Amino acid sequence: MTRVAVLGSTNMDLVAYVDRAPERGQTVTGREFRTIPGGKGANQAVAAARAGGDVLMIGAVGDDEYGVRMRESLEHSCVDTDLLHTAEGPSGTAHIVVDAQGSNAIVVVPGANGTVTSLGPGEIAAIAEADLLLLQLELPLSAVIEGARAGHAQGVRTLLTPSPVRKLPAELLDHVDLLIPNEHEAAELSGYEEPHAAAEILLSQVPAVLITLGAKGCLYAARGSRTIHFPAPEVIAVDTTGAGDTFVGTLAVALGEGRPVPQAIAWASAAAALCVQKPGASVSMPYRSEIDAA
Ligand code: AMP
Repeated sequence: MTRVAVLGSTNMDLVAYVDRAPERGQTVTGREFRTIPGGKGANQAVAAARAGGDVLMIGAVGDDEYGVRMRESLEHSCVDTDLLHTAEGPSGTAHIVVDAQGSNAIVVVPGANGTVTSLGPGEIAAIAEADLLLLQLELPLSAVIEGARAGHAQGVRTLLTPSPVRKLPAELLDHVDLLIPNEHEAAELSGYEEPHAAAEILLSQVPAVLITLGAKGCLYAARGSRTIHFPAPEVIAVDTTGAGDTFVGTLAVALGEGRPVPQAIAWASAAAALCVQKPGASVSMPYRSEIDAA
């Protein structure tokens, strides 16, 4: 089994489903409201566990009702939460508006995630024992850098999802094996809108880049090899929340199993396409048998 350590966020997603997202200063009436356990870290952890990985979540929830629910939700998907701490104060929350096309707009309030500023010996040891480390940018950067450095020092393959996007210091990028931005993040990080051009710039900073392109699939570029575009399966999307995290979590398991990159990407694309066909993020992530069947 692929051992995956996720150093990342847990957020309760507070989701309003609307026909049309409000413009600035406007109020619209929504169709439905749901609270769904999420956070980029937790979502990637759930996706990896459902895809068949042995997954450990490192981070923090608050000492509130959301924290209890999020821990239960991770455990329900067989994610190990021994290193998911309970911090004083509120859990992280994500305030999400999903429109009739399935597109979303999100505000994240970090809460307990903001308390994870450094790692202890237990976290460092757990990262060192993993096959892959999954990082995002919803925890304080100091902890993300510490995790990346710990993983890299032990030869743990490190995948970074640069979201929410911000300028990435060399002390982080130096320890990243695969950078996985979406097309907006890739444009912001590279200064180039066109994904091939963006990938080329980013390759000067990390050995490999995988730019996800929503319904258009993804673009994989690695130093010294040809850049390849992988189309996404054609499906009807109802909610794209969590598609990227499903993609990354599933990809990690496939890479850890030693599948070649093109096969791993095809498998991850099938999983992400299943995710977008159902509402919600973590609840819509497919299990291994469903991905294989797709
Ligand atoms: P994104 O974060 O929007 O770039 O999406 C991540 C991945 O999810 C993409 O690379 C696709 O594999 C998949 N995906 C997202 N949106 C769709 C869609 N509408 N149809 C099929 N696959 C999708």
